[in-house]
Amino acid sequence: MLENLTEIEKAALEALGAVRDEAALEAWRVAFLGRSSPLMQVFAGLGGLSKEERPVVGQRANEVKKALEARLAAKSEELRAAALKRSLEEERLDVTLPGRHLPRGRLHPDTQMLRELYRVFGEMGFQVYRSREVESDEYNFQLLNFPVGHPARDMQDTYFVDADGKDADNPTVLRTHTSPGQIHAMREYSARDPQNPPPVRIILPGMVYRYEQTDARHEMQFDQLEGLAVGPGITFSNLKGTLTDMARRLFGPQARTRFRASFFPFTEPSAEFDIECFLCGGKGCAVCGGGWLEIGGSGMVHPVVLRNGGYDPKRYTGFAFGFGIQRIAMLKYHISDIRLFWQNDLRFLEQF
Ligand SMILES: [Zn+2]
Repeated sequence: MLENLTEIEKAALEALGAVRDEAALEAWRVAFLGRSSPLMQVFAGLGGLSKEERPVVGQRANEVKKALEARLAAKSEELRAAALKRSLEEERLDVTLPGRHLPRGRLHPDTQMLRELYRVFGEMGFQVYRSREVESDEYNFQLLNFPVGHPARDMQDTYFVDADGKDADNPTVLRTHTSPGQIHAMREYSARDPQNPPPVRIILPGMVYRYEQTDARHEMQFDQLEGLAVGPGITFSNLKGTLTDMARRLFGPQARTRFRASFFPFTEPSAEFDIECFLCGGKGCAVCGGGWLEIGGSGMVHPVVLRNGGYDPKRYTGFAFGFGIQRIAMLKYHISDIRLFWQNDLRFLEQF
């Protein structure tokens, strides 16, 4: 029986040497110290031994049990220490290493410019009105007083979408300007109260498309910002005041504006408006030439356009203006080529 205990102890210690993790150690504990382990069988059989054998075997069995329990505790501690050491090595954090660079996103210069203009016009009480980019010829041209075959259409040649079954005089087009939004907006406003249409004071931003030979100053797509104010008693002075105020809010209190007579089918009278060059202060430089920067077109809304929008030109007048967002951004940031805006070149975009 004593030899048997020595065998048990030897087998247990050998098996313990192969234990490498907590799970194996638990299995070992069950096998050698558990209720049905050989060692426990010895304890269970003590009652069947003679009076002489019983204390000797009992004492030896207790020794073996204590020895195995001590080894179990030591092994458990050893495994924990090893696991800690391993995790310290594997997950070590070296705070002296340079950090991983996270590139910071930013808004496109065009979006920044638009948002600044929203702020400027928002302060003047204008609301943003969004209109579609795909238009009918009727809205893009005809309702704005560009009849079919009108020569002014040549300035705004665009992409015509071949739509089956559509009237030849009313094809689908990519809008050439944001002005068709004027008709959409006026019709929406006037429908609220056809007898007494409410006044309109909106800006219409968005992408427009032209069939262009691209160069440093021309793109086949660009952003426009249009403004429209309609109401009783609106005059050309209101138009001049609004655009001059915009120039001052954008370029500083000393900014001056200039209006030159022009022609647009949907305004009468019409004027192109310039802002005094903020680069040279009006003295004349390489960018402006004669001291003035050409910004956009403007005028009093043509009576035909007012009527097409549901406003009686005998009771209502209005002004409208429009200009290219990129044009303003190019002036403001000294950008030399309009094509840079849509090339997605980070070297350009990261400068804003
Ligand atoms: Zn200048």
